[in-house]
Amino acid sequence: DFRAIVIEQQVDGGRITAHTAEIRRVTDDFLMPGDVTIDVEFSDLNYKDGLAVGGRPGVARTSPLIPGIDVVGTVERSDDPRWRPGDRVTLNGAGLGENHHGGLAEKARVSGDALVRIPDAITSEQAAAIGTAGFTAMLAVLALERNGVDPREVAERADSVLVTGAAGGVGSVAVALLAKLGYPVTASTGRVEEAGDYLTDLGATAIIDRSELDAPGRPLQSQRWAGAVDSVGSQTLATVLAQTRYGGTVAACGLAQGPDLPTTVLPFILRAVSLVGINSVDAPLALRETAWRRLATDLDEEALAAMTRFVSLAEAIPAAEDILAGRLRGRTVVDVRA
Ligand code: NAP
Repeated sequence: DFRAIVIEQQVDGGRITAHTAEIRRVTDDFLMPGDVTIDVEFSDLNYKDGLAVGGRPGVARTSPLIPGIDVVGTVERSDDPRWRPGDRVTLNGAGLGENHHGGLAEKARVSGDALVRIPDAITSEQAAAIGTAGFTAMLAVLALERNGVDPREVAERADSVLVTGAAGGVGSVAVALLAKLGYPVTASTGRVEEAGDYLTDLGATAIIDRSELDAPGRPLQSQRWAGAVDSVGSQTLATVLAQTRYGGTVAACGLAQGPDLPTTVLPFILRAVSLVGINSVDAPLALRETAWRRLATDLDEEALAAMTRFVSLAEAIPAAEDILAGRLRGRTVVDVRA
């Protein structure tokens, strides 16, 4: 048998009426169908894991469920010809920790379809530190590149790329990636005092208080950003669009402030701004592989280490409330064997 965090909940008319999250010993029979069984080494905490473990609606779609949208480990057995025992693999999203048992356990059984081989240059700890948050940040950076937001041009014009929710998981990795690629980066955070030095060390060239962005304003404002990676949504994303320079691109990754978007079409039709959606859960395999290859070369190891904290499986349960309350900084790796 092996240890797993198991959440159980009762749902009545879309509302969660009872919820428990605890460590249990379970056997292989508890696992769901899948052609690859993984000896899990690490998982990690994303905002979504906070929601699932913390008993908030929208993520866990079955009960009982092992939460954890990320898995890092080695293949124990495989009926999928693409995977062999001993392969070092990771899986981000693809329904894990939502409708299929996830990574917050010592073992996982998954479909081989969305598994990614961890590049040799990335250790298992680093793969978990990256996790869905880092993978999502990479997808956002790829989207800016695809839309022609070029680091040299941004620097020559003394412009910058904005990252919102910068001290969070997606934000921290986005700051580090963009800085390493040579973009001047402005980091927006609600924790300027506490996280200012942290964000500068990750490579941010300027820091702003998120209160500059999170309140209603005019539909077009002074042009400040060549592009943006936004994990916040809502009024913040509307302001970012209103402040994005002609031809700029904004990658929408998250909804930390809210799922609404109180904007107008003016940034699009008067400034040719592009709004690009980022979805890590259903990303096709080829894109997953590209993103992980790029993470191996474009994410600074020291920056990644500086943003990462390790917790045990048991500590992951209270840490879920911390991520929901915005008390966690950067990335939290769960050592499932600790
Ligand atoms: P996280 O570590 O909790 O980071 C979220 C950050 O957003 C916080 O650290 C905080 O940054 C900022 N924030 C929180 N509440 C806010 C508010 N009310 N107004 C403005 N800013 C606020 O979470 P994460 O794992 O990085 O995820 C970030 C977002 O992206 C979440 O909404 C998540 O669901 C989404 N996401 C989407 C995908 C995808 O596939 N599209 C993948 C992963 C995550 P500061 O303290 O610096 O202000």
